[in-house]
Amino acid sequence: MPERKQFVAGNWKMNGRRADGVGLARGLARLANGAHACDLLVCPPATLLLPVGEVIAGSSVALGGQDCHASPAGAFTGSISAEMLRDSGCSHVIVGHSERRHGCGESDADIRAKTLAAWRAGLVAILCVGETRAEREAGRAVDVVAGQLAGSVPEGAAADTLIIAYEPVWAIGTGLTPTIADIAQIHAAIRDRIPSATRILYGGSVNPKNAAEILALADVDGALVGGASLKAEDFWAIAQASR
Ligand code: PEP
Repeated sequence: MPERKQFVAGNWKMNGRRADGVGLARGLARLANGAHACDLLVCPPATLLLPVGEVIAGSSVALGGQDCHASPAGAFTGSISAEMLRDSGCSHVIVGHSERRHGCGESDADIRAKTLAAWRAGLVAILCVGETRAEREAGRAVDVVAGQLAGSVPEGAAADTLIIAYEPVWAIGTGLTPTIADIAQIHAAIRDRIPSATRILYGGSVNPKNAAEILALADVDGALVGGASLKAEDFWAIAQASR
């Protein structure tokens, strides 16, 4: 099996004004001077990309966007292109987060187009998939995730251009997590459908207490962290749990 370095990413979502973001980034950059086994990424709101990028420059923490438009430029009020993210210092962008799939009605085709946009701009796409509670209760979790992968992962994906994040919708921001066996099952199902060197993150209520058990799973190559990424110490504790 190829070596896959674990990857811990923080999704700050729509949180933080400049002073908050800069303070959080400073704390994290300081902690990240310490030894850690994983790659680290923070995805602040677009308004904070530049100031946070300045703080983490030269540290081992990389910068990512939370979403991008599929077009490089144009009349798309309020949107941000992958090229703009790249120009702001980003190396990665999240696409297909459930808050965009379900909150903003984005389809697999939209997410596929955004992934291609990320690649066009030279960004690594962190592509999120995951079932709703109703889909899990109906025993359809694997089928749903397989369908999302088939519909949203473009041809030509490679380990250095794509990361998959398995994020069950019902686990995001709820404090609930699937069982360890359920996480292992879905990650194995994803592994069967993507290039073997591609990293698969788990996301959904990861915190300093549950991180070690989740990150110990063979097919879990890291974590996408929402709420717990807003405290530098908690995010760092999760990073420290990586293997
Ligand atoms: C997320 O938003 O990607 C996420 C996993 O959030 P949380 O960790 O808060 O569940």
